[in-house]
Parts: sequence; C-alpha cells; structure tokens
Amino acid sequence: TWINFSAYFHKVIDRFELTKSDNIRFVRKIPREAIFIEVDEDKITQVLDNIISNALKYSPQGGTITFRVRKLADEIIVSVSDEGVGIPKADLAKIFERFYRVDKARSRKLGGTGLGLAIAKEVVLAHGGTIWAESKEHKGTTIYFTLPLEREQKDDWCDV
Ligand code: ATP
Ligand code: MG
Repeated sequence: TWINFSAYFHKVIDRFELTKSDNIRFVRKIPREAIFIEVDEDKITQVLDNIISNALKYSPQGGTITFRVRKLADEIIVSVSDEGVGIPKADLAKIFERFYRVDKARSRKLGGTGLGLAIAKEVVLAHGGTIWAESKEHKGTTIYFTLPLEREQKDDWCDV
C-alpha cells in the first residue's frame, strides 16, 4: 500500500515517545512535505520497532535519539542515531546476521534473541532497499536504510 512516509514515521515515533523514560530525548529531522512510497506497512513497522528498541536499549541516561528522513532523487534514506555504547568495527557487518549479538555478557543482561536486525535486513531487501550501520564505540550508533520511491515494474513498459 501507498503511505505518506513522513506522517507514518511520526506516528511510529509518537508511540515510542509515550513509553520512553524522561531522560531520553527524541529529536526528529523529518521533512514537512509528504513523501509517498509503496511499502508493506506492517513489515516496515517491524523494522522500525526493532531499530528504535535497540537505540533505546543501548542509550545511556540523558542520551538523545535522532530520527532522520532524507529524500533523494529515487529513494529515501531513513536513519536512527543514538549516543549509546556503540558497536566495535569488527562487529558492524555481522549485526545483520541471525543470532549475532555483540558482547555476550552485555547482550544477555539486556535481553533479546539477535534476530531483530536480521529480519530488518530481509524486509528492507525485499522492498528493494539497503541497510547498514555506522558506529563509534562509546559515541553512538546510526542505523540507516533506504526505500526506493518508485518500485521497479518490469511488466508495465518495454523498450521498442
Ligand atoms: P532482538 O532484536 O531479537 O530482541 P537483539 O536486539 O540483541 O535481539 P538485533 O536487534 O539483531 O538483536 O541486534 C544485534 C546486536 O547488535 C545486538 O545484540 C547488539 O549487540 C548490537 N546492536 C544493535 N543495535 C545497537 C545499537 N543501537 N547500539 C549498540 N549495539 C547495537
Ligand atoms: Mg533488537
């Protein structure tokens, strides 16, 4: 279905804003304009739920979580940044693998199965997008994913 991603993203963030603790701050950098894209809303909600839960889980007291959407010519880039513990460089690519969790001790304390980002990757790829992470240990983490504005419709047109 087609959704206005800007409005939809605000709605998802609002839901977390209701339950988050007061010492975590949310900052939204989302265009005012409507951005229409075609997605499986339930699946993308699952992706965002996991990324935002992770950001909250690994944020320190007083941390800021920043939500961004950037519209490019043929895709949008969505990102969620936190000021948490970060992820060591060697683990960055692996966090999208099934059951992979950085630092067993820390992860066990915080709970989870290590499936969230693997599922997120699967969903984003199925939508024709990509997902990646940037992180600095003890500075924070940003998870990015893209979604195409126009989905390939191979059957509709043919070149003559
Ligand atoms: P689940 O999502 O299944 O409940 P999980 O959160 O541990 O479990 P993923 O969401 O797949 O699993 O994340 C994989 C691992 O990547 C986490 O265990 C954690 O070590 C690391 N990670 C993910 N997001 C962050 C983040 N924002 N800051 C620091 N580490 C992170
Ligand atoms: Mg998770």
